[in-house]
Amino acid sequence: MITAAPIVLRGGWGARVYPHPPATPSPQIWRLQAACYDAVMDAHDAGSQIPEAIRTLLAELGEDPDREGLLGTPDRVRRMYAELTDGYRTDPQTLLNDAAFDVDYDEMVVVRDIEFYSLCEHHLLPFFGKAHVGYLPSGRVIGLSKIPRAVDMYAHRLQVQERLTQQVATFLMERLEPKGVACVIEATHLCTVMRGVRKQEATMVTSAMLGTFRRDPRTRAEFLTFIGRTADR
Ligand SMILES: [Zn+2]
Repeated sequence: MITAAPIVLRGGWGARVYPHPPATPSPQIWRLQAACYDAVMDAHDAGSQIPEAIRTLLAELGEDPDREGLLGTPDRVRRMYAELTDGYRTDPQTLLNDAAFDVDYDEMVVVRDIEFYSLCEHHLLPFFGKAHVGYLPSGRVIGLSKIPRAVDMYAHRLQVQERLTQQVATFLMERLEPKGVACVIEATHLCTVMRGVRKQEATMVTSAMLGTFRRDPRTRAEFLTFIGRTADR
């Protein structure tokens, strides 16, 4: 039965198809992941110059790339970047495959608190936080696990937060053709926090409002209420 109440789901473990590993994954999981990233990198023949570049970087920092603690670092960094930038190699069409359904439902759908990790393109340092995504269906809805995956597809690239926000909203607008899409992202940027400048702006909030969410202040306000924000905050 279809009710007038919107669907509000929390992101995180339940909704994510590719959850980030727990803080202390087992060695087996790390090995499995490393093998996967190797396979991905081999398949795309990408990143083969990274270890040498990291050796150069270490030397330029005044380190000895050949000391024991650093010996494995260049290849470890290569595998790490393979994971953190796998969004470049995600096919949007495959991501959506068979996940859009025609339904007679036209109330707002909101997925909030989608945890994400990205890399700022200016410093190659992480920025991370939560994305909140809503849309007003126009006869079609998308499997809810796909929205966190779309966020990851764009987060796992070199990014600026404004573009990430826009890309997530535009992706859903173009692929789902709903009446409107809203995306709000709150994030902490390590390049700001670690470098000790403008700490008061450590959390940055960006939003993209398309279609009805842009045109209709009530729709926008309804969405902001669902994600625990108000229009002036
Ligand atoms: Zn930065």
